[in-house]
Amino acid sequence: MANDKPDLALRRKTRQVMVGSVPVGGGAQISVQSMTTTKTADVEGTLAQIYALSAQGADIVRCTCNEQAAAEGLAQIVPRSPVPLVADVHFHVEMALAALDAGVACLRLNPGNLRKPEEIKLVAQEAKDRGVPIRIGVNAGSLHPDLYKKYGRATPEALVESAKMELAYFQEVDFENVKISVKASSVPLMIQAYRMLSEEVDYPLHLGVTEAGPPPAGIIKATAGIASLLTQGIGDTIRYSLTADPVEEAKAGRQLLEALGLRERKSLDLVACPSCGRAEVDVIGVASAAQKALEALNLPIQVAVMGCVVNGPGEAREADIGIAAGKNKGHLFIKGKVVRVVPEADMVQELVAEAERLVKEGVAARLAAADSNAEAEAEADRQALLEDKGQDVNRASEKIEAIRRRIS
Ligand code: SF4
Repeated sequence: MANDKPDLALRRKTRQVMVGSVPVGGGAQISVQSMTTTKTADVEGTLAQIYALSAQGADIVRCTCNEQAAAEGLAQIVPRSPVPLVADVHFHVEMALAALDAGVACLRLNPGNLRKPEEIKLVAQEAKDRGVPIRIGVNAGSLHPDLYKKYGRATPEALVESAKMELAYFQEVDFENVKISVKASSVPLMIQAYRMLSEEVDYPLHLGVTEAGPPPAGIIKATAGIASLLTQGIGDTIRYSLTADPVEEAKAGRQLLEALGLRERKSLDLVACPSCGRAEVDVIGVASAAQKALEALNLPIQVAVMGCVVNGPGEAREADIGIAAGKNKGHLFIKGKVVRVVPEADMVQELVAEAERLVKEGVAARLAAADSNAEAEAEADRQALLEDKGQDVNRASEKIEAIRRRIS
């Protein structure tokens, strides 16, 4: 029943951090995270995966930043991503700094393998200057060697102490924009560690069972750990770590929150690009007009509204249907394939009409009914826009130069 607020919605009180536009903790709805499996230097492949994750319910996506090419990739991916991005950093302090140069919305540091206090404080200071939060990502499999010595093995106490050691370094530079995870592949161990940590700190907690393995066993393990804690009011953001296409992680996270009544069930799934220097249309206006019209029809499909034809259909190729703007036209696409080019003024109306036909007739029938000239016309518009605006409207090359100056 719509008005029943389940007790599970009662959360432990935490501070709030902002990962880009997504609030984490402090009463915000619990967010779903996932991580790309592409090389971050592969900009188009990584963006396609980020869009697929977003379409399946990921609110925040993490990408590895393990080498200079990855940081340079991030500089190009960040302005085109539909969701805030977290850079995952291990061992190399300069990769954390380069990820900040690239404009990421959050860093994840592993205290077990980025250990020099002066380096940790330097990253915290730079993150503080830029208003970027850091996740202290403790992992039972890569604890600080001193803690292994002290506790003999990964125990809940050792995981919590690792997080608190890192916090102490952050506090030395007055940095509090923090969320924390204490993951383990053992479900009882992670449950105990998170419970203990939640008694001691009020930073938002990122929940996960690390290396949970392939589905279905991986989903069961991760659900056992994450759901147990959520039902105790612990946890502000979650990630399933599965040995599978990361889309499965995003779906599982979303479905768990819906099953627990912690997120609203979705029928229509509208994804829209965040807009960037390439946008050819008021994405916010078109997306809200489309949302209003489509919600009235309550169609159980994924619909994408994309600001440009240069990247839109490719980035949103996982969506059932979408529209991308360019050269005063709308390119209507189904599963990434342009099926019709329509005047810009009619794009919302055409999108809604095609969505209805798609639900009635199915993907194969609507692809078969595509206008045979549409792909060629779309490609001509795409090339014309690339010539007009160039390859680098988001000034990624300037950021890449900054990364190179920092690392060289
Ligand atoms: S305007 Fe184009 S390149 Fe920019 S975010 Fe939207 S679809 Fe991607």
